[in-house]
Amino acid sequence: MRARPAFLLALTAALIAAGCALGPDSDSDPDGGVPAPTETAVSADTDGTDTPEEFEADIRAAQEVAEDYWTSKINGFQPIRQVVPYEREGEVDCGGEPLPRNNAVYCPAGDFIAYDVNWSFDAFRQIGDAFVFYLLGHEYAHGIQARLGIQKEFTIEQELQADCMAGAFIGDQERAGRLVMQKGDTEELADGLEAVGDDPGQPWFAEGSHGKPEERTRAFAGGYRDSLDSCGL
Ligand SMILES: [Zn+2]
Repeated sequence: MRARPAFLLALTAALIAAGCALGPDSDSDPDGGVPAPTETAVSADTDGTDTPEEFEADIRAAQEVAEDYWTSKINGFQPIRQVVPYEREGEVDCGGEPLPRNNAVYCPAGDFIAYDVNWSFDAFRQIGDAFVFYLLGHEYAHGIQARLGIQKEFTIEQELQADCMAGAFIGDQERAGRLVMQKGDTEELADGLEAVGDDPGQPWFAEGSHGKPEERTRAFAGGYRDSLDSCGL
């Protein structure tokens, strides 16, 4: 996936095996643990998803395109204050709660997005650049929910709505010509959603439930296809 005017990213064929160990890794985890896939990527070195510089450029591009998107959708929109990388458990805290490794989160207390840079970079290399746009899109959506005062009864409803909004963000910005889907991006998004889905045994009403892979994919696809209308905002 590429953002205009950011540089062109080459196509990718990263694959991860479905069903590798996935699911929340801790109850205190504010946004559900989404461990990086552990399978080795089947990817050529030409896909533009290999270096920390490319990763950082994609994070910045995704943030920029998300800000533009929500500026066009919400009157008086204020961008999320900061997007913060971290490496160690507890290096960043959200309202006094230390953030665990292998996660990305929107923190309403400080109005920032934080992500474990090593975990995210691994996922970027193994899944592809589209994953970064999905990840930022999803966390950004939580920031929008906070701005709109949306607080669903169950975590999973909040999460699936954020997936839908991430889909709308990517689909609408693609339709607007701000994002260009490249070969492999659709598969990357599917792989990414597969990777962040809950384990089959996770009850949907449990604290921290985000949704099974097929639920997350359905929510994302609805937004991607039909824009925010399908997200119940
Ligand atoms: Zn979330």
